[in-house]
Amino acid sequence: NLTNAALMARRRAALPAGLGQAHEVFVDRAENAEVWDVEGRRLIDFAGGIAVLNTGHRHPALVEAVKAQLDRVTHTCFQVLAYEPYVELAERLNTMAPGAFAKKSFFMTTGAEAVENAVKVARAYTKRSAVIAFGGGFHGRTMMGMALTGKVVPYKVGFGPFPAEVYHAKFPCALHGVSTADAMASIEALFKYDVEPSRVAAIILEPVQGEGGFYEAPIDFVKALRELCDRHGILLIADEVQTGAGRTGRWLACESWFEQAGVAPDIITMAKSLGGGFPLSAIIGRAEVMDAPAPGGLGGTYSGNPLACAAALAVIETFEKESLLARSQAVGERLKAGLKQIAERHSAIGDIRGPGAMIAIELFTDGDLARPDADRTRRIVAEALRRGLILLSCGVHANVIRILVPLTASDAVLDEGLAVLSDCFDATA
Ligand code: PMP
Repeated sequence: NLTNAALMARRRAALPAGLGQAHEVFVDRAENAEVWDVEGRRLIDFAGGIAVLNTGHRHPALVEAVKAQLDRVTHTCFQVLAYEPYVELAERLNTMAPGAFAKKSFFMTTGAEAVENAVKVARAYTKRSAVIAFGGGFHGRTMMGMALTGKVVPYKVGFGPFPAEVYHAKFPCALHGVSTADAMASIEALFKYDVEPSRVAAIILEPVQGEGGFYEAPIDFVKALRELCDRHGILLIADEVQTGAGRTGRWLACESWFEQAGVAPDIITMAKSLGGGFPLSAIIGRAEVMDAPAPGGLGGTYSGNPLACAAALAVIETFEKESLLARSQAVGERLKAGLKQIAERHSAIGDIRGPGAMIAIELFTDGDLARPDADRTRRIVAEALRRGLILLSCGVHANVIRILVPLTASDAVLDEGLAVLSDCFDATA
């Protein structure tokens, strides 16, 4: 008989300590927004495998598509022998990305690899070396991913030196007193102190910072970045690994940049919910930019695996069939309404935010914005698990509770999760 405790003991003995784990739970099976652990206990999943399960655990359409692919071919290496689902997926993603220009796409396996490849493409096209990223940003755990990530603990500690030519500017965040003007001034400061703009290949940002705390890039900032990039021949990269595939109420969060300000990124990275639980990441970009690397420069043995491509096509189809973009908005509104009710009773909640269903609450001692409350945040996440709800925290100050529940979750499950969260605030007060 397997128990969580026994498996955790085996895990600790066999696996390195650096591999974190949010909850001491081993899963046996999962269905949509619910999982059952090895002891038979049911848990509501508000974590969604860190933004991977916008279509829920094991959506029937995905399971069917992957099974069908499994019975045909599972691997050839796309650079040896090609298969249609890869090309079809690229065609679909090219038409779904904003910007009135021709686009091309290719696939990798992880979000970090997508980021690595976005930088490779940007360097090949611009023939420049430097990349500007932002404080609080997260871009993965590979060497360049870590270099671009703007948070030292725990992601970068002990792992340097990192690739050169990466510079960090401030990310605007009104809640913590950083304006768009401050953020733009920090880029001008980089140009003055560290790197001339003509050496900068790209500026990379998350439309909504994910690991950094669910802070949305203000539209005036995005507009200013685009203007800056155009002025200096710099490419703009949107890292949509966490925001993409419908989380923000649009297929891509940067669609709202285009609608509001006519801004389109030159390159977009996607992963996570694109494959709906199968490992797949995408790099989508301006055709002439994407064609810059020489043949053989891009790819990987497993990248764009047929099973993952079949899953991604099923994800796109499911979004259409089940109107999941509208559902994303509705889920977000329902969550926000429930969180507002909790906030009426608990001054610790200093902010409730997020586009679409990319929802977060930020906790402060006595609601004082100068005192982020990481301890209460940690206690609520732990209490939630005891009461059957899987939550995740995030944020530069570790005081943000983020919700990445499947968009396919029923209203009943959403309300059940909210009720547990409410009880957790009472229990930790
Ligand atoms: N970019 C962003 C914005 C992310 O949120 C993440 C993962 N949290 C990554 C890159 C890295 O993705 P992966 O873990 O699949 O390498």
